[in-house]
Amino acid sequence: MAQRFVPRAASSRPSREVDVDLRRFRNDVRDAAGFEACRAIAAKKRGNSQMTDVHMRRAIELACESVTQGGGPFGAVVFLDGRVLGEGKNRVVPDGDPTAHAEINAIRNACRAEGSHSLQGAVIYTIGEPCPMCLGAIWWARISRIVFANSRDAAADIGFDDAALYREVSAPLENRKIKIEKSDEVGAKDVFEAWTRKADKVPY
Ligand SMILES: [Zn+2]
Repeated sequence: MAQRFVPRAASSRPSREVDVDLRRFRNDVRDAAGFEACRAIAAKKRGNSQMTDVHMRRAIELACESVTQGGGPFGAVVFLDGRVLGEGKNRVVPDGDPTAHAEINAIRNACRAEGSHSLQGAVIYTIGEPCPMCLGAIWWARISRIVFANSRDAAADIGFDDAALYREVSAPLENRKIKIEKSDEVGAKDVFEAWTRKADKVPY
């Protein structure tokens, strides 16, 4: 998601019951106390056994915490076999790190906790539909299922235009916004060939 955070009226309807409390994002979006209230509601409902989507509630809670800490309104949870492996908040602005999306941070924390680059079979719960960067990380981590609440269009409505990046990824190279070109530098191919001959490589 882009760093710009310009709230405005969302055009798309919340798709899930879990989104009801997110009206507070729109009503109180410039008010840190509003996010604190939202976080408290998410935490309270997370403890309610009637609520089946406890992990999405936690992702919402993390998103609210993120905003009160100067990040974007994003949170994510990685879950496998009855255990939360890792959680993440958006830390792009506070950490000065454009890759510090909630899903990336949740995956990093989960992989550190597991001591493995693979999260095979896990589920990631994320408040927003993953951007292409996060989808790539989810793919490489071998996460098996994604549950999201707010769509890429809903993210675009509040200033995070993931939809544009999805269009960029699927555009032919000659039509990309970021100029991309192929180099024929000697040696690049040799590295790949040497990799195929390396006997003790760990494929991933
Ligand atoms: Zn992302």
